[in-house]
Amino acid sequence: MVRRITFRNARLAHWLSDFAATLPQNIFERGIMLYDRHRVWDYHASQNGLHASVEDLHNSFYQVEIKWSNAAGEAAELPNPNAASVTCSCASAAHFCAHSTAVVLYWIMRMDRAGTISESETAVDQGDSPAYQALESKMKRLASKATPSVQRLDATKLSSQPELQNQLERMVRQVMTRDQQTSHQPTETSHSSPQ
Ligand SMILES: [Zn+2]
Repeated sequence: MVRRITFRNARLAHWLSDFAATLPQNIFERGIMLYDRHRVWDYHASQNGLHASVEDLHNSFYQVEIKWSNAAGEAAELPNPNAASVTCSCASAAHFCAHSTAVVLYWIMRMDRAGTISESETAVDQGDSPAYQALESKMKRLASKATPSVQRLDATKLSSQPELQNQLERMVRQVMTRDQQTSHQPTETSHSSPQ
């Protein structure tokens, strides 16, 4: 579970970190939770944007449509989320609601796993840099603890890209806190297919 929000590609991690910084924290947290609980269905991505159905915690489905203003398929270009056209069938007036945030998370994690960003980019960080290894080992320690503690984390020891590391650690803590609070709920194991 924690593994899903580690990145192989530093550029994608930076993009998500920048994106998260533009969102109200509660929306980002809810987006992570929905993503992490496999609430993104009927996902479809094209160069122009994303479409998916997102199931909220009350089992209602919302239709999300995101149109990038630039072509995401161009190798050198990641889309600017602030310039994207975002619609969701929920009542939120926010540019990105929790549902559309979950779709963005789904999209960027798929790109990270698929390595669709060019090899020269991914070669920058394949998860073997000291900073990423330190973060990964922290995640493993956290995951093995019965009571993950905020105090146990010392972000200052992550020398490289401190803001990114902080952001990722916040994400991990948030997800793990949610898991603890809701661990009595059944966890879905199936996932929607991109086809
Ligand atoms: Zn929504």
